[in-house]
Order: sequence, then C-alpha cells, then structure tokens
Amino acid sequence: MKLFSKIGICGLIIMFFSLSQINEAQSWGFWAHKRINRLSVFTLPPEMIGFYKSHLEHITEHAVDPDKRRYAVEGEDKKHYIDVDVYGEYPFDNVPRVWSEAVEKFSEDTLMEYGILPYNLEWMMGKLTRAFEEQNLKRILRHSSDIGHYIGDGHVPLHTTVNYNGQLTGQKGIHGFWESRCPELFATDNYDFFVGKAIYVENIRDKIWEIVLESASHVPEVFAQEIRLTKEFPDDKKYAFDERGDILLKNYSYEFSEAYEKSLDGMIEDRMRDAILNIGSFWYTAWVNAGKPDLNRLGELALTDEEIEEQKELDNKSNGGKIKGRDHSK
Ligand SMILES: [Zn+2]
Repeated sequence: MKLFSKIGICGLIIMFFSLSQINEAQSWGFWAHKRINRLSVFTLPPEMIGFYKSHLEHITEHAVDPDKRRYAVEGEDKKHYIDVDVYGEYPFDNVPRVWSEAVEKFSEDTLMEYGILPYNLEWMMGKLTRAFEEQNLKRILRHSSDIGHYIGDGHVPLHTTVNYNGQLTGQKGIHGFWESRCPELFATDNYDFFVGKAIYVENIRDKIWEIVLESASHVPEVFAQEIRLTKEFPDDKKYAFDERGDILLKNYSYEFSEAYEKSLDGMIEDRMRDAILNIGSFWYTAWVNAGKPDLNRLGELALTDEEIEEQKELDNKSNGGKIKGRDHSK
C-alpha cells in the first residue's frame, strides 16, 4: 500500500498496464541473440573467420531479424519453437525426426500448431549450403544470421514446451525471465564464453534433435526452481519496479534473479555456450559441404534501395506491432 500511495493514481495505471507486458519475450532477448551470433564468429577456422569478421556487425545486428519477422510474416513464429511435450514423454522417440513422416503421423496442421523448429533448422542448413555453393554473399549472410537465431532458440528449454511461459502452472513471465532478464544481468560479468573451435557436424538432423532434447530435458528444473524460490521470496521481494522515463515497469528483482540463476547451477551459461559453439559448427559444416568456397572473393555487401526499404519496414512493424501468432510473453 505504501508504494501505491507514493506513485499515485497515474503511476498505478501505468504500472498495471506494464504488468501485462512483463518481460517482453523475444527468444533469448535481443541482447543475448546478438551476443550469441557475434561470439559464434570467433569459433570459425582461418578460412572462414576473416569473411565473418568483416561482416561482424551485420551478423550481430541481423541476429534478431527472425524475431522481427514474427510481426510481419504469417507462420514465422512456428519456426522458433517446438512444444515437443504435447506428443509424449522425453526423449520423444514417437516424434518422427523426418518432416514427411511427422506430417504423416501428426498432420501438417498439428505440427504447425505446436511449432516446427527442428524441421525448419534442417531446411535452413540446406539453404545456407546452397548459398555457399552459389557463392551468394547476401544469402550467405542472411542465412547465417537466421540459422544463428533459430539454433539459439533451440537451446532455450522454454522453446520446447507447451507451457512456454509458465501460463499453465501460474508462472507467467518465466520465459523472458530465463532467457532475457537472467542473461542480461549476469552473462557479461560471470559467464565464460571461450567455447573453442567449430566442429564438423556429421549428421545435422541428429545434432538438431540432440540440441532440442537437451533443452527439453531441462524444462522440469526451469519450473521447479522458480516454484521453490517463490515460496522463499514474498511478492515484494520477488518483484521490483524499474523506472523507465515516465513508465514504471514491474520485473523480477535482482535478488530473486540472482537466486534463480544460481539455483539452475550454470544451466543458462551452458546453454548459451553450447549455442555459440553449435552455431559456429553449423556454419562451418555448411561451408565444408558446399566444397569450401573461397570466401575472400565474395566482395562487399551492397544492398539495393528495395532491400534497405524492406529492412526499414521490418524494423517499423516489429516496433510496437503485434506478433502474427504466438507471443511467448503472453
Ligand atoms: Zn526467436
């Protein structure tokens, strides 16, 4: 009550408005996606690293384009997740790893309803490999950035469950809490991002499912620790109010976030590290499979006016727009 009287009726309205928007979830958050894509460049072998480094800003900035496209393109949101637990139990052997077999078993409508992340990733690898074969600079950059994003999403446990935002267990907000709030608070100072060198992936499909299954294996812990700590932290300690200009935002408090991050025993750091290494490894694998083209001969990136306009439109639509499909924060 003390807080209410302090901020007055105006503040209250703003506060409740922002309550529904707690932790806008954008899959790993924009910050983490950019960081992950950027760091993946440094895992690459000498024949690739020069090219990727010269496009470091591009790879970093466009790490979040797939999330922006959710506001502009129908069906884009399905590529960012798979609610694999709707089909059965871990390790989900009953879910066909091959798209055509999965369609036959569950129907395309059902698969689209619950997300197609692993299948889409396999198609994306085909696209990136072809872009390398054709030595098409724009497509190499676009597909590299996009694959970085989708692989990043695949490492987030909450992208593999139907209870993606804790909406079924009274834990609404946990999606953005795990993937945005925690890494933004703790990654820079506490996480070790030296992950070693990219590794050739013999079997892309197996690797994609290994990533998804590992994420899925963490789901119970992600929820259990939040429930356990919620019992220890009364509401006024669990949440804090940040002032952003005139707006008062309700968010998980620093103390609660710290306790949660610690209780997961390095899980968020490990998932980020694995994402970085796997992205580098997928880029490397596509390049090898395309016959190791000489990337230093690809020249400079020159966008047409139309492409610049398209990007602007994407930025505008995602700024304050509405997602066409699932919003992880709702
Ligand atoms: Zn995403």
